[in-house]
Amino acid sequence: MTAGNNALASLAGFRDQFVIPDGVIYLDGNSLGVLPKAAITAVRRTVEEEWGQGLIRSWNTADWVNAPRRCGDKIARLIGADAGEVIACDSTSLNLFKALVTALQLQSLRPDAAGRNVIVSDIDNFPTDLYIAQGLQALLAERKLELRFVKRHELEATLREVGSRTAVVMLTQVDYRSGGRYVMQGVTEVVQSHGALMLWDLAHSTCAFPVSLNACKADLAVGCTYKYVNAGPGAPAFVFAAKRHLDALDAAAVPAPISGWFAHEAPFAFDPKFRVARGVERFTVGTPPILQFAALEAALDVWLSADMNLVREASVALTTRFIAEVEQHCGGMGLTLATPRDSSIRGSQVSFRHAEGYAIMQALIARGVIGDFRAPDILRFGFTPLYVTEADVVAAASHLRDVMKLREYERAEFRARSKVT
Ligand SMILES: *Cc1c(COP(=O)(O)O)cnc(C)c1O
Repeated sequence: MTAGNNALASLAGFRDQFVIPDGVIYLDGNSLGVLPKAAITAVRRTVEEEWGQGLIRSWNTADWVNAPRRCGDKIARLIGADAGEVIACDSTSLNLFKALVTALQLQSLRPDAAGRNVIVSDIDNFPTDLYIAQGLQALLAERKLELRFVKRHELEATLREVGSRTAVVMLTQVDYRSGGRYVMQGVTEVVQSHGALMLWDLAHSTCAFPVSLNACKADLAVGCTYKYVNAGPGAPAFVFAAKRHLDALDAAAVPAPISGWFAHEAPFAFDPKFRVARGVERFTVGTPPILQFAALEAALDVWLSADMNLVREASVALTTRFIAEVEQHCGGMGLTLATPRDSSIRGSQVSFRHAEGYAIMQALIARGVIGDFRAPDILRFGFTPLYVTEADVVAAASHLRDVMKLREYERAEFRARSKVT
């Protein structure tokens, strides 16, 4: 047996901890992970006992008030960070805003801060990341921020050109379309060699493979938990800031990026004057959504019992097998691989391009093989080894072959677009 097969065999017991609907092969855990059975119990307990019976007392007796920090500390263990460096809160979009503001604040603390006003990103980054940067530029017009959104292969040349004017580089480690992955350590080093701060978006990294933020000396990071983490629709996202930066922000009493009452040093003092909390709490804003946190914590506890190195080995085995199956059975049908063949620069997804991608995916979904479509022509399949098996991979490729052979995508019913693709 290969290492991948061994890994798949060792993880096989996890599948039963999730709800997998009958007749479904679920290859969309990169968009919305499946329901952990433990989340059902946790949410029910939170609703019936903690909310129903405990009521307001549960903020203390069920420790609701510390859920963002408690979950943050658990997330930290999954992304190579330390306790106290991560907090779970809000959406990824909102956390990107806070992280970018923090990067600019950190740069302002430096003696040579003047002129560091460029935010660099990848033009193929997920749009919300680029939108948040554009919004910040408009909001801080007097700061004269400059945005440089460039192609991946232009990144290093751009950094050389912008040099000491770069404030922060914001990248999503795994490209949501292609599944191509930046090498975190190498990129972080290059960025920091220009005196810029490195902000990673871990949306498609967290619980997809081992992440080592501190070993890579990352400065800031954000990520979401409804994808590979399986915490459910609308689950809280997270923010990471390295301890050295949290200490610097504390020492200079730098304002919170959004000064809601939960970012106050003493929210229940109800003092009219804002005083920023120390540490990672500076990133919280308002009351945490406790029902969502109950599901998040249950999902995190499943992950903390898994070996992330085995998850990676199994993921590589599944994605490699899927590529081989599709290329073997669907050759000459117009599908082109959009994901790197080199597994060391691949996330846990496989994408194919096809001009009829949308309709092909709808036909697959009608057959119970659920992936998704990303404009303009990407068929996207996510592989989450805690519940996807090798048999699923083989069956999915065989359904894809049948959809192509029988030209099912030409049916009118598969061509009408819904709002969410
Ligand atoms: C999924 C995703 C997001 C989602 O942001 P939300 O605020 O949770 O909607 C952000 N960035 C990237 C790169 C993503 O893949």
